[in-house]
Amino acid sequence: MGTLGTLFAPERVAVVGASAREGSVGYAVTHNLVESFDGEVLAVNPNSDEVLGLDCHDSLAGLADVDVAVVVVPPDVAVEAVREAGETGIENVVVITAGFSEAGSEGAARERELVAIAEEYDINLVGPNCVGVMSTGVGLNATFAPMDAQPGNVSMMSQSGAFITAVLDWASDRSLGFKDVVSLGNKAVLDESDFVREWGEDPETDVVLGYLEDIDDGRAFMETAREVGRETPIVVVKSGRTEAGASAAASHTGAIAGSDRAYEAGLAQSGVIRVDSVQELFDAASILAGQPVPDSEEVAIVTNAGGPGVMTTDAVGDADLSLAEFSDGTIDELGEFLPDGANVYNPVDIIGDAPSERFERTLDVVLSDDNVGTAIVLACPTATLSFEDLAEATVEMQEAHDVPVAAVLMGGTSTREAAETMSEAGIPSYFDPARAVRSLDILAEYADSRTAEYTEPTTFDVDHERVDAILDRARERNSSRLGVEAMGLLDAYGIPTPEGEVVDDPAEAQAIAEDIGDEVVMKIVSPDILHKSDIGGVEVGVGPEEVWDTYEDLVARARQYQPDATIIGVQVQEMVDIDAGTETIVGVTRDPQFGPLVMFGLGGIFVEILEDTAFRVAPVSEPEASEMVDDIEASPLLHGARGREPVDTDALVETIQRISQLVTDVPAITELDINPAVATPDGVSAVDLRLTLDTEEL
Ligand code: ADP
Ligand code: MG
Repeated sequence: MGTLGTLFAPERVAVVGASAREGSVGYAVTHNLVESFDGEVLAVNPNSDEVLGLDCHDSLAGLADVDVAVVVVPPDVAVEAVREAGETGIENVVVITAGFSEAGSEGAARERELVAIAEEYDINLVGPNCVGVMSTGVGLNATFAPMDAQPGNVSMMSQSGAFITAVLDWASDRSLGFKDVVSLGNKAVLDESDFVREWGEDPETDVVLGYLEDIDDGRAFMETAREVGRETPIVVVKSGRTEAGASAAASHTGAIAGSDRAYEAGLAQSGVIRVDSVQELFDAASILAGQPVPDSEEVAIVTNAGGPGVMTTDAVGDADLSLAEFSDGTIDELGEFLPDGANVYNPVDIIGDAPSERFERTLDVVLSDDNVGTAIVLACPTATLSFEDLAEATVEMQEAHDVPVAAVLMGGTSTREAAETMSEAGIPSYFDPARAVRSLDILAEYADSRTAEYTEPTTFDVDHERVDAILDRARERNSSRLGVEAMGLLDAYGIPTPEGEVVDDPAEAQAIAEDIGDEVVMKIVSPDILHKSDIGGVEVGVGPEEVWDTYEDLVARARQYQPDATIIGVQVQEMVDIDAGTETIVGVTRDPQFGPLVMFGLGGIFVEILEDTAFRVAPVSEPEASEMVDDIEASPLLHGARGREPVDTDALVETIQRISQLVTDVPAITELDINPAVATPDGVSAVDLRLTLDTEEL
């Protein structure tokens, strides 16, 4: 039994608010339980003697050995019922009743009360405001849904109750069965992480599905999912993908990072398979529940139709899969029995007159090839082919070789029975080759994430005292926005910066420039000026004689832009050879659910217009940082496209990790941009910095 005790394996279930009035929730829940449940159902209703043939009890008090109480009474009575459940020692309570945090401040207060009671009595509380729970192992249907779940090995949680009923209805004429189903409701106590953990320990759950609108604690979810996902695939549809970025953000990173970036990164980093549509969710569920995990992403295609074979090959090319290259033995063997005109290479075309025996023999050979990780059986209707025989042959070969197979049956009515035979054996079939390929892609993605080693993020030696001193100064000034005057933070974290200093009079500027001993860059330093070059606040290539005048010009421009701007001074900085490298951006924003989110991209138009960026939730490990550098579309530029010398990507990878460590160590940093971090063949140099502090955290 899992962490949630008897919630999904009760022997006695009580309905608080059981009702004989048809059309009421109390009736629907009682009716479902009476119809389906293997154990005993108890009705609680002080105003009735009998409901659906059950004697009514006045309250939960005094009822012995109740494993789950299902509460459907009005909200204020519901709170009392939960307390009674606690006092009676009932471990699990499902609050179906609505009228809690989704219903204004009064409801929110009521929900807090519910949480307090659940904590006091250590109750596993589902909901409130939900459709209920099901568990096919014991025939439990403690919901008001108008249908049952078919038994199977998929467990599902959903934040939308309507989604559950829609899915169960949809699944009822397909061979997708469920172990547990839970409607999460307001997630006052139990949330997605609790159920993922539970199902990770449940030997009868082979796949976890989630329809989520939000994740309460992103980091807790990541940790649980990472662990559970090694044994049990987790597939999630997260709605709200197009949410606009935080418009008030002061940094590029903040503006690009809508909260969906955090979900995208967090789910991917913890090996959760994220899909975009309900159809994909079920395609994923079907193949993960029915087929073994593949050894490789090499696909074999066996078809009786050339054209669709090419379409499928194209789809394989677009996915993260590749076409298997057969061994010589396979090719020889196929050549021995396939007719003239057949193609013995992958995609194997066994031509239009193929009966099911030819499919079977071909599959037998192809699935024996060690180079084949997965296979697609692709058939169009012909006079010589019986789809029903093909289905049986495919099932037999799949089971004999234990290699995952998906089928494409390009037809209508004539394919129906065959599709059912396959589906019962766990082989999904589709009309559209692209969907079969996508399913295998998901299977391969899961295989990949399952074997991926988790690498602990590196901890670098850094100068904490120096960081504290800089933050102290910010606190004294009460400034929440810092710019290049805080470059010391980067230095303290071992991120290379050009030599330079912030000064507040022209004579000092001259002295620094002389120290640097070459042309310099001069920048205005003011918390009121976010984009310095926009107001003429950056001068590059300043010669020694121009330093004094440039200083005064920069201050004058700032004053002109904003007369009352606070001017800290001017930064005099060593020149970096930008032409020898590429301007990149390394940034951070903080997500309410996932915490610091690190961004990498190329600077300039790449980040501003194309939004060619990669995100990861911090702390970012070395392999993750390296993926970020490779993930962006413009990555070939960094690796030396078109005869350019490659930049030092190792230095970029290290910079990303060090920034990740900085923002993990210093929670007061809410946003940060290094724009640009100039990457050259010899290393990285952070020439600009901007960050926002939460002064209350300082
Ligand atoms: P801002 O982003 O506020 O306008 P930056 O410090 O990023 O200010 O400077 C603007 C641009 O000036 C940079 O993108 C870079 O192209 C150039 N630049 C800034 N500092 C240097 C430097 N030390 N060496 C060479 N070019 C620089
Ligand atoms: Mg800049």
